[in-house]
Amino acid sequence: MVNFLIFGPPGSGKGTQSVKLAEKFNLLHLSTGDMLRAEIAAGTELGKKMSTIMSKGELVPDSVVIEMIANKIDGSKGIAGFLFDGFPRTVAQTVALEEMLNTRGMKIDCMLALDVEHDELVKRLIGRAEVSGRADDMDPAVIENRIDVYNEKTAPIMNYCEERGVYQPVNGMGSIDDIFGRLVEVMNKIV
Ligand code: ADP
Repeated sequence: MVNFLIFGPPGSGKGTQSVKLAEKFNLLHLSTGDMLRAEIAAGTELGKKMSTIMSKGELVPDSVVIEMIANKIDGSKGIAGFLFDGFPRTVAQTVALEEMLNTRGMKIDCMLALDVEHDELVKRLIGRAEVSGRADDMDPAVIENRIDVYNEKTAPIMNYCEERGVYQPVNGMGSIDDIFGRLVEVMNKIV
């Protein structure tokens, strides 16, 4: 098993690239954002609680996403590895993920960190709001808060991964296909 993290600020293209990469490398794409939105769409108690937090652009509690991921890691067969998208988002989540993987004889093999300029992030998210209908894409103040939360709580994971020798920065500016090509080049050296 080869396990990748796709990493970057909101609007960096993680979700778009993940779908293409998962198909190309036979990876199971696990997006905590998608899982949480599925809970909201299904009207579960958890979904109701989380939707308020998400619509403000804050992070849901670590314990919620850690449990979601733990449930998905077991029982996945016939895949080459996992592609984690939007998880981990805090150093505590990273430590929990490493532990989950280590106890199953796996590790984080590579963090693909997409690098995108601030103004481009805002532009993409505002553009996406029209198609996604996502509450957290509609309001410019919420978008700025998500970027601030990323810089404060999520970005430190890059240092953590660099110390472990698994950090791979990737230029996230340009066309979807150009960025995909850059990611594939890095991943081909690892699989
Ligand atoms: P984005 O495009 O902002 O990266 P996501 O779909 O990954 O969007 O996440 C949307 C929201 O879901 C986040 O702003 C946050 O509230 C919540 N969320 C998703 N993943 C996590 C996580 N790993 N930890 C905490 N909150 C999360």
